[in-house]
Amino acid sequence: MDKNFQEEFTQVIKFKPPLYKQRHQFVKDLVEKYKPKKVADLGCADCSLLRMLKFCSCIEELAGLDICANVMKEKMHTLSPLPADYLQPSERSLTITLHHGSVAHKDPCMLGFDLVTCIELIEHLEEPELKKFPEVVFGFMAPSIVVISTPNSEFNPLLPGVMLYRHPDHKFEWNQAQFQSWALETARCYDYSVEFTGVGHPPTGMERAGFCTQIGVFTRKYPQSGESVLSEKPTEAVYKTVFKAVYPSLKDEKYLQNAVISEVIFTAQIIKHRLTSKHEEYGNDPERKSKFQPSMDCFSDYLGKLVVEKNMEPFVSGNEVYIPLAIIFSFPKVNRLCGTFEKLCKLIAGKVTLSSDGSAVMFSIEGE
Ligand code: SAH
Repeated sequence: MDKNFQEEFTQVIKFKPPLYKQRHQFVKDLVEKYKPKKVADLGCADCSLLRMLKFCSCIEELAGLDICANVMKEKMHTLSPLPADYLQPSERSLTITLHHGSVAHKDPCMLGFDLVTCIELIEHLEEPELKKFPEVVFGFMAPSIVVISTPNSEFNPLLPGVMLYRHPDHKFEWNQAQFQSWALETARCYDYSVEFTGVGHPPTGMERAGFCTQIGVFTRKYPQSGESVLSEKPTEAVYKTVFKAVYPSLKDEKYLQNAVISEVIFTAQIIKHRLTSKHEEYGNDPERKSKFQPSMDCFSDYLGKLVVEKNMEPFVSGNEVYIPLAIIFSFPKVNRLCGTFEKLCKLIAGKVTLSSDGSAVMFSIEGE
């Protein structure tokens, strides 16, 4: 490398966004592309990648593993559900678990993941750990995709202040040829293919230095048959679980029921409001059942369509307003939440006041 050129760049290289964010964004883009349901981050440190991934709606299970419990615990509370998650539970389920342990050991809690990420991890491993790492990750965990990132030592001369390694805990830093030969050999042993890329572009004219962070994306060549996976794997747990959060989800009957009841009451209240304002126009004759009269807004248009097409009508009788459940069920959100009319009836039974035959939601005309 030309020394003058090198000195010139040593002063100016600064990544925007910072390199760690580019690495995490790389993983997030991969998640959005392949939509894995279960993702494990090995060497998760302060859980910052997990914090980002919890917003990816395809993910239902997230796990972190680190050999240093203290660094994980520092910010693990930020992985807990927020009040808003309880107020509006998501349709997907999400469980986040943190384990204390080493990537050199196998634990059954690490089985069944679709994507495993090892971001800036391998260079922290001592030689015996690095030797065991491929068997644990590719042989035992055997996810469909593994992402491994590590510093590219060829870039170091361009970084200000880097003497030997970028971090005092690094046990080694590989150049591109070293990383690629290790990755290709690992992929060959465990029937994976690997593609190389990276983040942190070299400056113009220095392309041969390669990316500042080199990345290997490994893809398993053959699908695993579920049975062979579990029967051959040891079951003894060696990791210690230090954190577990189960997010409220509509897949849980208790949250689904709350959501359905709220939605049913909300929908029925709006219909009632439209109906009673019409009713007042007719006068308050208790003998007369007032009919729904469509007005010009969308909601009423939709309701009007239901009345005509399905011959279902909300009505006022005496001091009560009756809104047939069949109408409420036709509203998209209620319909999506419940799936079937029977499920709607089951979820609101005993929780919402119904007409004596159970076919309509009943409100007093005065009450809100
Ligand atoms: N992945 C993080 C930071 C990586 S720093 C990020 O993207 O920002 C490397 C991490 O690996 C440290 O937190 C360190 O405690 C952890 N580590 C080191 N050796 C390990 C081992 N044998 N098993 C699991 N984690 C290990």
